[in-house]
Amino acid sequence: MKVVTYAQGTHTAVGILKQDGSEVVPAHYLGCPAKDMTEFIADMTEKKLQKLKRNTELMQGIPVEDVRILSPIIHPKQDVICLGINYYAHAQEAARFSDAAFGGERPQPIYFSKRVNQAVPPDGEIDGHFDIVDSLDYEVELAVVIGKNAKNISEAEAFDVVFGYTILNDMSARNLQTAHKQWYFGKSLDDFTPIGPCIVTKDEFTNPPALAIRSFVNGQLRQDSNTSLMINHIAKVISQLSQGMTLQAGTIIAMGTPAGVGMGFDPPKFLQSGDVVTCEIEGIGVLENRIK
Ligand code: MG
Repeated sequence: MKVVTYAQGTHTAVGILKQDGSEVVPAHYLGCPAKDMTEFIADMTEKKLQKLKRNTELMQGIPVEDVRILSPIIHPKQDVICLGINYYAHAQEAARFSDAAFGGERPQPIYFSKRVNQAVPPDGEIDGHFDIVDSLDYEVELAVVIGKNAKNISEAEAFDVVFGYTILNDMSARNLQTAHKQWYFGKSLDDFTPIGPCIVTKDEFTNPPALAIRSFVNGQLRQDSNTSLMINHIAKVISQLSQGMTLQAGTIIAMGTPAGVGMGFDPPKFLQSGDVVTCEIEGIGVLENRIK
């Protein structure tokens, strides 16, 4: 099931996409009066989800061309948790760019976070902040959305607490990321987190999902991998993070990016004003954003 946040005029709401993608059925038609996606997820149970799935196909919805699809989670309740260097080929290209910032042994996953004042919608523009950024880069990532408050979860239980999956572009200012040693600032500028176009519930995929993941700049293929190639897999990450730390319903975990980012080329291919970045993951959709 594909869950979206959409706008119709000035009204913003959660909806379910019909299987053929033609209509969005407002969640409140289906007995889910959540004010936003985080509330919708927190209220959801397996039983309710199955009922929603059945009823969505029976209801009259709104034609998709009459709404604007926004980021499924526009204002994440907390920081977005990110994994650094989680595909081997990306580890190699990042270390070639800056061994001091990205090289070395990593026996444990690298965790960091992004501040997201407002997620950029699937067709939204990204401010490149070119007054302070000289090396703007893209990173297509599979993002896991947690479905219920989770603490001390074993790897075997990990997918029980997953709600679904979306696409996240972990936009990065390489000059800020390397200059400040800590990656937080260089990844947290306004507009640096496009998310969307929908959340696909976990029942649509295997555990863990093995999906083609790609990015393009101005139509040119840059990243081309599969989510099965992560170094630290989803169950390990959820289990490890939840030891002593509650992962609240609605938490977003961005699982790292494969090789082919701008800093991986020699010379690097950083983004310029007017460039269009397209991120796509099999079974989820396309997230396409132009750089202002
Ligand atoms: Mg990243």
